[in-house]
Amino acid sequence: MSQHRFLLIAYPLQGHINPALQFAKRLASTGAHVTFATNLYFHRRMLNKSTTPGLSFATFSDGYDDGYKASDDFDILAHISVLKRRGSECLRSTIIAAQNDGQPFTCVAYTILLTWAAQVAREFHLPVALLWIQPATVFDIYYHYFHQYKDDIAHESHLELPGLPFPLTSRDIPSFLLSSNIYTFALPSLEEQFQELDQETNPVLLVNTFEELEPEALKAVDKYSMIPIGPLIPSAFLDEKDPSDTSFGADIFDVSNDYVEWLDSKPKLSVVYVSFGTLAVLSRRQMEELARALIDSGYPFLWVIRENNGKEEKEKLQGLSCGEELEVKGKIVKWCSQVEVLSNGSLGCFVSHCGWNSTTESLASGVPMVAFPQLSDQMTNAKLVEDVWKIGVRVDDKANEEGIVEAEEIRKCLEVVMGTEGKGHELRKNAEKWKCLAREAVKEGGSSDRNMRTFLDDVAKYSSLM
Ligand code: UDP
Repeated sequence: MSQHRFLLIAYPLQGHINPALQFAKRLASTGAHVTFATNLYFHRRMLNKSTTPGLSFATFSDGYDDGYKASDDFDILAHISVLKRRGSECLRSTIIAAQNDGQPFTCVAYTILLTWAAQVAREFHLPVALLWIQPATVFDIYYHYFHQYKDDIAHESHLELPGLPFPLTSRDIPSFLLSSNIYTFALPSLEEQFQELDQETNPVLLVNTFEELEPEALKAVDKYSMIPIGPLIPSAFLDEKDPSDTSFGADIFDVSNDYVEWLDSKPKLSVVYVSFGTLAVLSRRQMEELARALIDSGYPFLWVIRENNGKEEKEKLQGLSCGEELEVKGKIVKWCSQVEVLSNGSLGCFVSHCGWNSTTESLASGVPMVAFPQLSDQMTNAKLVEDVWKIGVRVDDKANEEGIVEAEEIRKCLEVVMGTEGKGHELRKNAEKWKCLAREAVKEGGSSDRNMRTFLDDVAKYSSLM
């Protein structure tokens, strides 16, 4: 069989780039060649970009070569349109150049919201695969929303959807679907994504999850067959096949790792790790409550407070009433290698916004969570963490009228999850179970490994027919 040649494009956000890059590395490890198309900003941030054999890059400017900053007066709709235009041009020219070199692509793969990538692939009659970088459960909810359950999902407070084995309440629904949603750009893009899938016969739908994690959800939509190939996490922290694969390799900030030494100096299971991912921004008041809870709980903590939203975050931190105490009792960093932190033996729990990558990384490291979702799929992910996999507790965000989770509530959750007996013990045991199952899934012969091979065989069959 001739070599597979993939052209892969990911939305220029860390939470999309990370799993896509990991997918690229997995493909390359099977002997395939992968061209990873990305904007200049993320390409510049990629460490070790030349060290993976079989992986090369195609870059384009989306007008934000230095990244997006709050102060840029960022216009998301304008950006979506530039991304589409420049991204499509990049894909087209890369496809044509490969054809001219006599090494044509055999498949185009793209992450959520880049529907235009599928359209470009069609222009060239190339097979296309969507890499869904959220859980299958979230795919199902969106699918049902765009196919006859719109009103129920937007308005019902208690919901049962076909194929999903558990009921949902409005706090479990991806926030973009609720009438309270303020990010109005998201829904039309999602709708377009589902229209695109509906147009294709048997669309290839790869999902960053694994069979054992979401067995029902993966089968909840009859019309599509979802192919779970995850979790997409660097090998050194998962199957250990490639010990040199220790990072996603596309960090927003340069990582200075004195926090590793700090973690190493702490007792086993004693540290609380706090991160809200790369997009969510906490209000000053919410940070104050969180800081108070961390100090009152008495556990050592590592807290990531980003500065990529300009000086605002830094000022918020400096303005906290307990700022000095924070620096003494815990460690504050603006970025860390999260997968490395989660695999450190000192970690006791992860206070997380429940981005899907953070959730799978915590699960695959056996670290129980305090789920503190902010928006988008995080609401559903928090539900899965608390009620389905039982690896964490979710903060009660309804107690306070302004939607602020107060220090006492956070402190209580920390006490439960850090507890060595009772519920804390249960959560840790479950987390340990999922850690083993995640590793099994990606090991040779495991469910995700088998699915990946079947996917490659199918692409090969298709391209030999062309
Ligand atoms: N991440 C990291 N260091 C940090 C914060 C985040 O390496 O200090 C990584 C994290 O491991 C994950 C990604 O950034 O892979 C964030 O993706 P996620 O889906 O959790 O959240 P998002 O940023 O999309 O809200």
